[in-house]
Amino acid sequence: MAKSDTIRQLDDHFRRENIRNVVILTDKNVDHLYGDYFSELSEQVAVDKLVLRPGEKTKSIQTAAQVWNYLAEKQYDKDTFLLNFGGGVITDLGGFVASTYKRGIRFANVPTTLLAMIDAAVGGKTGVNLPSMKNGVGTIYFPDIQLPVDLSFLNTLHINEIFSGLGELLKYALIGSNELFHSLRKRRRFPSLTTEDVDFCIDFKMKIVRKDPYDKGIRHILNFGHTFGHAIESYCAKTGKPIAHGLAVAQGLYYESLLSTRLGHLPQEEWQLIAALLTKHFQIMPITDDIREELLYYMLNDKKNHNNMINFTLLNHIGHAIPDFQIPASELQTYMS
Ligand code: ADP
Ligand code: ZN
Repeated sequence: MAKSDTIRQLDDHFRRENIRNVVILTDKNVDHLYGDYFSELSEQVAVDKLVLRPGEKTKSIQTAAQVWNYLAEKQYDKDTFLLNFGGGVITDLGGFVASTYKRGIRFANVPTTLLAMIDAAVGGKTGVNLPSMKNGVGTIYFPDIQLPVDLSFLNTLHINEIFSGLGELLKYALIGSNELFHSLRKRRRFPSLTTEDVDFCIDFKMKIVRKDPYDKGIRHILNFGHTFGHAIESYCAKTGKPIAHGLAVAQGLYYESLLSTRLGHLPQEEWQLIAALLTKHFQIMPITDDIREELLYYMLNDKKNHNNMINFTLLNHIGHAIPDFQIPASELQTYMS
């Protein structure tokens, strides 16, 4: 259903916008599984494909340069359309290339991971990693068209990647929908996701992004779970046991909900429901004194934090978040255990 929906919407869009050249950017795994996904596009458009190596290393300025050069050598002009087909690595990198090649060409994302469907491919943040900084270089540049998601891609996705996406999905429930939270809590099979669950996340994010496209205020609520989450992700990478982004975020949700309760914003009973759901499905790393020091180091070095203060989005209820609490690092030590 969604495949023909996607193809139909793309065909209509290309016709309306008079687009003649489309370059699909994808990775080897996705190409191997879904190489003929776009074979039914109208013959009015010439479709080319560039297949990259899978994995986070591909999200680099070197690969961006490789794609720029590919487009330039094949003399693709400003009317070329880039179709990013894959997970967050491909949609972040492809969005970045689209925003910079010839000062910007049009593009769309066809996300194939849960994380990309509900987060990376929505809202216009693009970018690549620097050796010392994740997403160190990037732009905010919006896709030309938001396509419907095709949940059937998830059938081939590794379970670890599914749970990583679920970490991010739980974030949306916690900041935006008490109803989704309770529905997830009561599900007999977890993770059994519906199109409505995924659409809720996308619509919620789009609504926030429309209010604050350049991430100056209310959009910060989407960072819930990410202050701790990013620190945990960096810590795990440093200790040689990297974990998927959403799995770190799930732990961030746990500790930032706890912080919300300890600071008197979130009722104890609600914290208990959150903790029960998160510990049931995710491994939550205990924070020992040593780890606390390391996490504080990463949080203080985050580009969003200054003057020994750490920025948090906190919950005051399940389904309702408040952005931009500044908490002194010294005070945070007493709340983290
Ligand atoms: P994320 O969306 O989590 O940022 P990536 O773009 O790195 O992740 O994708 C994670 C891994 O899953 C990559 O190895 C990618 O090739 C692979 N992948 C992406 N989509 C699918 C899919 N639908 N089925 C199987 N593997 C996929
Ligand atoms: Zn995230």
